[in-house]
Amino acid sequence: MKVYNSLSRKIENFKALEREKVTMYTCGPTVYNYVHIGNLRTFIFYDTVKRAFKLNNYKVKHVMNITDVDDKTIKGAIESKVSLKEYTEMYTKYFIEDLNKLNMDMDTRITKATDNIDEMQKIIVKLVKEGYAYEAQDGIYFNISKFKNYGKLSGMKVDGIYSRIKNDQYDKENASDFALWKYWDANDGEAYWKGELKKGRPGWHIECSAMSMKYLGKTIDIHCGAVDLIFPHHENEIAQSESYSKQKFVNYWLHAEHLLVNNQKMSKSLNNFYTLRDLESQGFNPLSFRLMVIDSHYRNKLDFNFENLRKYEKLLAKIDLSIKALIKVEKYEEKEDNYSRIQTKQKIDKEIELFKEAVNNDLNTHESLQHFLSLLDLADEKTKKAKVDNKEFLMLSAAIGKMNDFLGVYLAYEIPQEIIALAEEREQKRKQKQFVEADLLREKISENGYFIADLPNTFVITKKYLD
Ligand code: AMP
Ligand code: ZN
Repeated sequence: MKVYNSLSRKIENFKALEREKVTMYTCGPTVYNYVHIGNLRTFIFYDTVKRAFKLNNYKVKHVMNITDVDDKTIKGAIESKVSLKEYTEMYTKYFIEDLNKLNMDMDTRITKATDNIDEMQKIIVKLVKEGYAYEAQDGIYFNISKFKNYGKLSGMKVDGIYSRIKNDQYDKENASDFALWKYWDANDGEAYWKGELKKGRPGWHIECSAMSMKYLGKTIDIHCGAVDLIFPHHENEIAQSESYSKQKFVNYWLHAEHLLVNNQKMSKSLNNFYTLRDLESQGFNPLSFRLMVIDSHYRNKLDFNFENLRKYEKLLAKIDLSIKALIKVEKYEEKEDNYSRIQTKQKIDKEIELFKEAVNNDLNTHESLQHFLSLLDLADEKTKKAKVDNKEFLMLSAAIGKMNDFLGVYLAYEIPQEIIALAEEREQKRKQKQFVEADLLREKISENGYFIADLPNTFVITKKYLD
């Protein structure tokens, strides 16, 4: 597998620390509000990284943090007059719902910053003891001049004059000493911890170092985020972790580009954002957004607009229909290998090979999607003939399933019994040439959110997608 490593600024051959195992840490959301679809683009990227390793038969150990204490969460909780815990748990719940709607592989250890305060304190105490960190009047800070490799990830230089920053909203232009531990002040309300350090709370960066080292080890294979995290967040994570452990923190740093709106980064502060709920309330299926993200390369910026999303909604409908039709169509068994069977096998083998090549070439999801779609075209050709050789069906469905294990764009769902009954009734009416009644039934099915497509000898029911 080849991946682009932000640390070397090169595409590199991936080599795991331990054979066939991958340790992967991804920076999760700050749960002070709903996440927006820009954040979700990054989370879909994490998901494809994980699935790519699984496709290559690695066992992946994946940890993602939830930032449930910082300036914004504390402010939000106080303004809403609820406890920090109650406030952040509500948005964490919505976040997990979004992940499920986007068909993420949930084989992830999701861990909250506030459950790991002791580990953070332990690191900070050692950093102070060894002279990497110092106490100021309002907290404990990391002294960036003490870490000689400061800037190795981002290229940021530390030359002489630099300042000290307490906020979680960090200065992106200048290197500064950053807060590891912030002493309590009245703005923090009930959000404070004691333990080995004076009453206060952690800075933002220290949580990821603590959780990554605690759950995955002092050196890990992969750490992901979006490009805005390279500096200062990831640079600071490296500084504090490597000063603490005297070991390399991460072998491969993978960063995704931003989702844009009218050529500007989608963000809360610019108020140009949409949530997944906004898309759903306009009738879109969440997976059409997943499809949109996967169709572009993670290292390219992606401009979001609704016309484009409509295109993916249509593609999603086609994928759903092609797969359901292949499953539904009548099967028969050829006695021996014939020309069609051999040809189908050759075509599938070729597509699978090209598919894997694309995935392993720094996650070329766009290309891999094309190979998936060409197998669906082949499936359409077969189903049009009303009968499919069972061997060909098994080969095709296995290959489509394998590709979907990576892409995650097809998600099986139940069709309610009432809808199936209505569809069968409609089929009867059609056979009896009672077309008016049949159309009324189709309408009724549609009003209930489902769609019927007629195949040569049968029919398929899918969810209704936007036209
Ligand atoms: P936050 O909740 O702000 O900590 O962000 C969660 C993740 O979303 C981080 O990895 C951010 O870098 C990422 N992110 C924020 N805005 C965007 C955007 N417009 N496009 C892609 N990723 C983003
Ligand atoms: Zn982080």
